[in-house]
Amino acid sequence: MKTIRNLCLAALAALLLAPAVQAQDLPRFEKMVRQLSGAKYQGRGYARDGVRKAGKYIAREFQKSGVDAVTLQSFTLDINTFSGKMDMWADGRKLAPGIDFSMREYSPGVHGEFPVYHVDTLNFDADRMFADLARPEYANCLVCCEFWFTYNHREAFSKLQKAGACPNAGLLYEWTSPIKFYKAYGEKVVDKPIVWVTPEAIAGVKTVRLNVDNEFLKGYPTENVIAKVEGRRHDGCYVFTAHYDHLGNLGWKVYYPGANDNASGTAAIITLAQYYAEHRPEYDMYFIAFSGEDANLRGSTWFVEHPVVPLDQIRYLFNLDMIGDNNPVQYCEVSDAGMARYGLFEQINAEQGLFQALNRGELAANSDHYPFAVRGVPCIFLENQEGDAFPYYHTPNDNMKTIRLDSYIPVFKLVTSFVEKDCLSD
Ligand SMILES: [Zn+2]
Repeated sequence: MKTIRNLCLAALAALLLAPAVQAQDLPRFEKMVRQLSGAKYQGRGYARDGVRKAGKYIAREFQKSGVDAVTLQSFTLDINTFSGKMDMWADGRKLAPGIDFSMREYSPGVHGEFPVYHVDTLNFDADRMFADLARPEYANCLVCCEFWFTYNHREAFSKLQKAGACPNAGLLYEWTSPIKFYKAYGEKVVDKPIVWVTPEAIAGVKTVRLNVDNEFLKGYPTENVIAKVEGRRHDGCYVFTAHYDHLGNLGWKVYYPGANDNASGTAAIITLAQYYAEHRPEYDMYFIAFSGEDANLRGSTWFVEHPVVPLDQIRYLFNLDMIGDNNPVQYCEVSDAGMARYGLFEQINAEQGLFQALNRGELAANSDHYPFAVRGVPCIFLENQEGDAFPYYHTPNDNMKTIRLDSYIPVFKLVTSFVEKDCLSD
C-alpha cells in the first residue's frame, strides 16, 4: 500500500511539476529583444544595413519556431540617413547627439560655423524678422526658434527652409529633452539643414559649429519577413504583424536600439508563430515582420498593395507595436471593420484579469495596422503606452535597461484567446 501511495504521490508531483503546455515564452522573447536591440543591428536602420541583417535573423528565428514557410517580400525605398560625422558645438561647448541635439529626418548634412539668430517669440513680427536677417551680421546664420511656435507661423518659417528665399543657412528648432528623432523617413532632402536642439543647450548661444554628414539612399532594397503556419482550413486566416525596422544611426557613434519600439512586438510575433506551429490552428496563420514602418509605413503599405493573401480573407489582424512596457491599462486602436468583435477583447480581458482595462483611442496612421484598417480589414493595434519605458521611445535610451517586460504575457494571452474564441463563433 505504501508503495502504491508513494507511486501515486510521485505521479501527482510529476503532474504538478510538468511544464504546462508551452504558450507564451518569456525567456525566448527577452533573448530576441536583446539580440534585435544590440549593436550588431545598429538600430535596424538603412545606412549600415542593420535592417537587412535583422531581417535575416528574424527569418531564421521563424524557421526555428517550426513554421511551415518563410518568405521575404522585397521592396525599395528612398531614405535619408545620418551615419557619418555628427558633431555640434554651441559657443564652443560640445553637444551630445541624440541627447542635446538631433537632425530633422529630411535635413541635408551641414558643415561650418554659423551665427545664431534667436527669434523673438514674445513680440513676433515676420517682417521685422526678415529685415533683421538681411543685416550683414546675420548673413549665413541659423535661425533658432521654439518648434511649436514655428508650427503656428508656417508660411514665414517654410520660407526660411527654401534656397534663395532668405539668406539664412538653416534652422535650429528647439524641442524639449529628450529629443526624439521622430521618423526615419526622409524620402526627400530639403534645401537647408534643420537641427533639433534642446532649449537648455541653445539658450543665449551666439555661434554654432556643425559637422554633420548625411547620405541619401535611393532605391534601398528592404524586406517584409512573412511566416505562415497552415491551419486545418484555408478559407480564412489570422494575421499578426509587427515592424522590425527602427531609426538606425544618428552619426557613427549613436544608434537607436528600439528595444520597446519595436523589437518587443517583433519578438512577440515570433513566439506566437512558435505557439501556433506547436498547436495546429483552425485557420491559416500569418506572421509579418514589416520593414519601413518608421519610414512612413512603407512596408505595410507595400504589402496591402501586393498582398500575399487576399485582404478580404483576413478574419482579424493584430498589430503589436511597443509592448515592452508596464502600464496596467492597455492602449488599443480598432478599425471600423474590427469594432463588431471588439467586445470579445473586453470580455476576455475581464474574464482573465489580463489588464486593468483596455483604453481604446481614435484610429490613426501611427503604425502598420492603418493601411489595413482603411481597406476594411478587421484589426486591432496594441501598444502599451505611458508606462515606465514610454518616455524613452525614439531616443537612444530605448534599450534593455529601460524596457519593461510586463505587457508581453497579457498581450499574448489576449490575442491567442481571441483567436480561439473567434474560431468558435462561426
Ligand atoms: Zn513602432
